[in-house]
Amino acid sequence: MAVGVLALQGDFREHEAVLQKLGVQTVQVRLPKDLEQIDRLIIPGGESTTIGKLLVLYKLLIPIRKRIKKGMPVWGTCAGAILMAKHIIDGKEKQPSLAVMDITARRNAFGRQLDSFESDVSAKEISDKPLPVVFIRAPIFEKLGKSVKVLAKLPNGKIIAARENNMMATCFHPELTNNSLFHQYFLTF
Ligand code: GLN
Repeated sequence: MAVGVLALQGDFREHEAVLQKLGVQTVQVRLPKDLEQIDRLIIPGGESTTIGKLLVLYKLLIPIRKRIKKGMPVWGTCAGAILMAKHIIDGKEKQPSLAVMDITARRNAFGRQLDSFESDVSAKEISDKPLPVVFIRAPIFEKLGKSVKVLAKLPNGKIIAARENNMMATCFHPELTNNSLFHQYFLTF
């Protein structure tokens, strides 16, 4: 079994590179049959409206949602996290999404002026030391359900990483740094 990386659009190659450095076998998921080879899935950053449309076009939306509901570990970074959220603020009308995790994702929450920035975030569950991450037109998470655990917050209290059982969502991109601790953490799910 391998780690699937949804490869319809976005920065899936960067996730694969981190996993391969860790010695983990990866599969690019583009078709429903690719899901047979994987036991967990990463949904990369990119553009959530585009990835959502392609999930429908490639007949992946329903099969992936079913696998997640059956317990398959899944991690969405940025656009991937937006696609996992049950509710989206500032989404496009009828934006297709997996809608599996009990969070609200507010899209482009840092405004347009601040397109992208690097930061160190503290995520105690994952490391004692601050972790370097990159934010690119990032969302933030709001209205977490009771079964959702906060993994990381900004100093201003805004929630930027969360976990609900087999599901993890991060507003940022650890795959764009040299640090693989978020990937290692996901592999323990
Ligand atoms: N703003 C993008 C969206 O709404 C997400 C950006 C990203 O994945 N880096 O999909």
